[in-house]
Amino acid sequence: MQGVLLDLDGTLLDHEGAVTAALLRWLPTIGVTPDAPVLALWRTVQERHLADWRAGRLTFQQQRRRRVRDFLVAVGRPAEDDETRLDTLFGGFLRRYEQAWAPYPDAAPVLAALRRAGLRTAVLTNGIVAQQTDKLARIGLLDRVGPVYTGEALGLFKPDPAVFAEACRRWGLPPGAVVSVGDRHDLDVLPARAAGLRAVHLDRDGAGPLDEPDRVTSLRDLPALL
Ligand SMILES: [Mg+2]
Repeated sequence: MQGVLLDLDGTLLDHEGAVTAALLRWLPTIGVTPDAPVLALWRTVQERHLADWRAGRLTFQQQRRRRVRDFLVAVGRPAEDDETRLDTLFGGFLRRYEQAWAPYPDAAPVLAALRRAGLRTAVLTNGIVAQQTDKLARIGLLDRVGPVYTGEALGLFKPDPAVFAEACRRWGLPPGAVVSVGDRHDLDVLPARAAGLRAVHLDRDGAGPLDEPDRVTSLRDLPALL
């Protein structure tokens, strides 16, 4: 192995924790009670529009507007179609989401350990260039992770195996010398293997699949596996 290709959200940065923290602070400011069904609804609406963005059917800003519009209707608020108003509403969430960005405690130590082991690191993430590099900068990891490859810049998104092949090509490493590490078995593990990489599932909450042979529950356990 020569390189470790790390996912960002859910792997280095606690994305779900930041979303929950942001919703708990933002929703009361717009008169919505942030109970569990409402939080789940946000994620359902989010995934639908992010999928449309990844497929090229919406711009990133359009998916943000539609996400907040559909979410408000779903929680019983009147339909809002004014784009400036939707941008302001989404901005209320986004500001709090950004304030809540935090690395997992095992992120910086594993980057140091991999470097000591002589391995190169890079990030491969489905997000947009500006936001994903901003995330890494704000959590203090941008100068430690190596190159950052995004779905937006590659024009390809996980779970397309081609995104892993293209990242390796740009990195200058053969897929067989690279291991993909990420929290989503369906996005970070299976398509990476299909592209000829090795892959390790970071199963932080122990949800499985438990028969996955290359599985860790903390990044601290990763170096021993490589
Ligand atoms: Mg992830």
